[in-house]
Amino acid sequence: MAPSAILLNPEDTIIENYDKNNLLANNHGDGKSIHVDNGPAANQLIKGVLLEQVARINTDTCDPDEENAFYVADLGEVYRQHMRWKTNLPRIKPFYAVKCNPDTEVIRLLAALGSGFDCASKAEIDQVLGLGVDPSRIIYAQPCKTKSYLRHAANVGVSQMTFDNADELHKIKSCYPNAEIVLRILTDDSASLCRLSTKFGADLETAADLLRLARNLELNVVGVSFHVGSGAADPSAFSKAVTDAKWVFDQANLHGYDLKLLDVGGGFTDETFEVFAAKLSDAVEEHFPPHIRVIAEPGRYYTANAFTLATNVIARRDVSSLPSTPRSANSNGSEYSATSTTEKSYMLYLNDGVYGNFSNIIFDHQHPTAQVLRSYGAADMDKLVEYSIWGPTCDGIDVISEHCYLPGTLDIGDWLFFENMGAYTKCSATRFNGFKDVHETIYISSEPGASALLGY
Ligand SMILES: *Cc1c(COP(=O)(O)O)cnc(C)c1O
Repeated sequence: MAPSAILLNPEDTIIENYDKNNLLANNHGDGKSIHVDNGPAANQLIKGVLLEQVARINTDTCDPDEENAFYVADLGEVYRQHMRWKTNLPRIKPFYAVKCNPDTEVIRLLAALGSGFDCASKAEIDQVLGLGVDPSRIIYAQPCKTKSYLRHAANVGVSQMTFDNADELHKIKSCYPNAEIVLRILTDDSASLCRLSTKFGADLETAADLLRLARNLELNVVGVSFHVGSGAADPSAFSKAVTDAKWVFDQANLHGYDLKLLDVGGGFTDETFEVFAAKLSDAVEEHFPPHIRVIAEPGRYYTANAFTLATNVIARRDVSSLPSTPRSANSNGSEYSATSTTEKSYMLYLNDGVYGNFSNIIFDHQHPTAQVLRSYGAADMDKLVEYSIWGPTCDGIDVISEHCYLPGTLDIGDWLFFENMGAYTKCSATRFNGFKDVHETIYISSEPGASALLGY
């Protein structure tokens, strides 16, 4: 579907969101982090668009796939994250990690905002170049490249690229001898959500050897990069990695190189951004003089919050009669008092699951939180009902939530929505069992600045 701007009156809509787990999970306003408030207006706008879209779909009469899951993407959120980046890391130029969400509108907006791009394959490079981005704004940040892709990079002039092993240097020597190459070093990413250092990065000893080899091969080493791990949890990981990078800069000097580029990778998250940015800035200022160019490769930071996914309830199973651990057997009773009104519980089956857009559950260790999308209140809406939520495939692994409480009794044809579904979701969806891996996205912008750049 072509991007569209939808204007509507948020006051026409009612959103139900009484899930207590959800209120906790989504409560960024904990007072600890300074958060750019995207405000209730943006949220109401998104929810209004969701409701307007589902109102068009009658699951009793619609054609196959008309009731498919769909996204609402608020490009205003991407815009706000960019402004927040510039406020907190004015010296560091972001190169958006395309793999996190290669959505064309996201890339188009970031290109207009002046961002660079981290690409890891021919297709990612071509997609970004195809949107008119200059090759100098791309870093081919895959230390173990496919040879034919490397020749392609040479043909299209994407000259900045990373390496972390000796064979890669020989490969670069034969395919692209004057590439501007960046040595990726290991970091301690043990506290991160998705560890990367088990797969990529040279330890410091190896780094010194690689510099010697690069010198012998007369290759153009221009800088050092690292990645502290996706979903990094320990801000001091940045301080340590920057210190190590400085050591490699000094080693490079001994081999006759005058390095000019520090690439601090990705790993930034919405929730902890200011804390990480402060640590990182301090370390960069301490070790790197102003003439050193500093770039980063943020992925999830930019897109996680910008995408909301709506899914349809296609089936339901009443499991309230099955014997389970009796809640009332808990003698002091206090732990479950809030849910003691629960009588029935259900398994809900959605038309999207871990083989689809919820691939982030498997690959990215996420726990998406369901919310009920309703325009009218159900009769028993004030009551919390216990559910487990499943995907549409025939595989038992396809579970979205093993246990949650939602307001009221949901039925076939009802809709659920999930916020924060913009990172590592649709890009890793499959077509397993014949379900679709491409879903419609409705684009909106809650920021006039973004709307102007995108022409919405
Ligand atoms: C995945 C990846 C990123 C983006 O990581 P985020 O945690 O999403 O910020 C950046 N750089 C490289 C090399 C990556 O592999």
